[in-house]
Amino acid sequence: MSENAEAIREICDSIIRRVDRAYVAECGKRNELPKKLWDMWAESGLLSIGLPEEYGGSGGSLSDIVLAMDLLHTEALLLPLAVPNFMSRGPLLKFASEEQKRRYLPPTATGEEFFSFGITEPDAGTNTFKIKTTAIRQPDGTFLLNGGKTYQTAFVESAHCLLVARTQPYDPEDRTKGISLFILDTKLPGISATQMDIGMYLPEKNYTTYFDNVVLPADALVGEEGRGLNILFDSLNSERLLVAAMNVGQADYCINRAAEYAKTRAPFDTPIGAYQSIQHPLARAKTYNESARSMMYLATAKHDRGENIGVEANMVKVLASESFKMAAEIAMTCFGGAGVDVSQDILPFYIAAQNNIVAPVNNQIVLSFIAEKVLGLPKSY
Ligand SMILES: Cc1cc2nc3c(=O)[nH]c(=O)nc-3n(C[C@H](O)[C@H](O)[C@H](O)COP(=O)(O)OP(=O)(O)OC[C@H]3O[C@@H](n4cnc5c(N)ncnc54)[C@H](O)[C@@H]3O)c2cc1C
Repeated sequence: MSENAEAIREICDSIIRRVDRAYVAECGKRNELPKKLWDMWAESGLLSIGLPEEYGGSGGSLSDIVLAMDLLHTEALLLPLAVPNFMSRGPLLKFASEEQKRRYLPPTATGEEFFSFGITEPDAGTNTFKIKTTAIRQPDGTFLLNGGKTYQTAFVESAHCLLVARTQPYDPEDRTKGISLFILDTKLPGISATQMDIGMYLPEKNYTTYFDNVVLPADALVGEEGRGLNILFDSLNSERLLVAAMNVGQADYCINRAAEYAKTRAPFDTPIGAYQSIQHPLARAKTYNESARSMMYLATAKHDRGENIGVEANMVKVLASESFKMAAEIAMTCFGGAGVDVSQDILPFYIAAQNNIVAPVNNQIVLSFIAEKVLGLPKSY
C-alpha cells in the first residue's frame, strides 16, 4: 500500500456516504454518466492522482488509483470512464510533445474533459494489426482520416479520442509498423456516431463511429509516425490493473449482497445460507477474490517501482475477471428467480462479469500470451 492509502480511504469513505448505489444503478439503466459521482471524483481530487503537478495533477501513483477504484466498486459505485481517463495519460506523458501535454492533460485532472479510446474495428476485432481506418499524410502536413471504429465507449461525450489509424499499408514483416496514434477532436467535421444497443447497465453509452475525410491537424499525431501501436501497448499493463480493481470490487459487492440475502431467505424455514450448496461457492468466490486482489496490489506496487509487469498484469486480468464471474454466478443462484429482477440489482453484475471476460481484452488471448511468455509455448496470435 502506498503512503497515500489512508487519505484515499478517507476520500472514498466520504464519497460512499454521499452517493448511494440506487442513483448509480438508475444511471446505469439509462446508460448515463453518474454526474454526481464524476463531480465528486473531480472535486475530491481523485481524478488528479497519478498526474504530475506541472500538468495540473496531484502526483501519486497507480497504487493510489487502483485502491480508489477497488473501494468504490466494492460499493458498486461504478465509474468505468475513469479507466480511459487515467490510461490516456501514460502514452501522453511518455510520448506527446510538451505542447500537447500542456493542452490535453490538465483538463483530465479537473474532470472538464476526458479521453475515449478508438482502437476496435468491426472486422479486425482483437487483431488490432488488421485495422483498416487510414490517416493519410497530405502535402500540407495534415492527415486525412477515413474509416470507422466500434464499441467506442463515451466517444460522443468525450472531448478527445486517442485513436489508432493506418498511416502506411500493412507490413507482414513488422505488424506493429504503419499504425499511428492521434489525438482526435471528437467534434471535427466529417465525424458521425451511432449509439449501439448494448444490453448492459453501464454508466456510459457505446458508439459505432464513422470518419469521412476528417482533416486531422499535423499536431494531432502523438509520438513517431507509424509507431502508434507500440505507444499504445505501453499503457496496457496499467489498464489491466485498473480493470482488475473494478472486477474485484464488483465481485465483493456480489458476494456481500448474496451473503446478506442468504442469511434471511428461508423457503424451507432454514436460511439458504446454511446449505453447503450456497455456502461453499460463496466462500470459494471470496477466497479467489482475495487472492486476485492480493496479486493485483503486488503487481501494482511492482509497476510503481518501475519494474516490468507484463506477465503479472495479464495474470491479474484473468484472475480478477474470473473471480468476478464466479461471484456473480453464485449471487444469481442465491437470489434464485429474484436474480433476474433488475430491481434486485444483481443481474447487471452477472452481465458485466461475462463481458469483463472478453473486454477490454479477451482472457483467451491473455492466456495465450502467458503460455508463450511463461511456459515457452508457440505464439498463437
Ligand atoms: C462494453 C464494451 C466496451 C468497449 N469499449 C471499447 C472502447 O472504448 N474502445 C475500443 O477500442 N474498444 C472497446 N471495446 C472493444 C473490446 O476491446 C473488444 O470487444 C475486444 O477487444 C474483443 O474484440 P471482438 O469483440 O471483436 O472479439 P473477436 O476478435 O471477434 O473475438 C471473439 C472471441 O474469439 C476468441 N479469440 C479471438 N482471438 C483469439 C486468439 N488470438 N486466441 C484465442 N482466442 C481468440 C475470444 O474468445 C474472443 O472473445 C469494448 C467492448 C465492449 C463489449
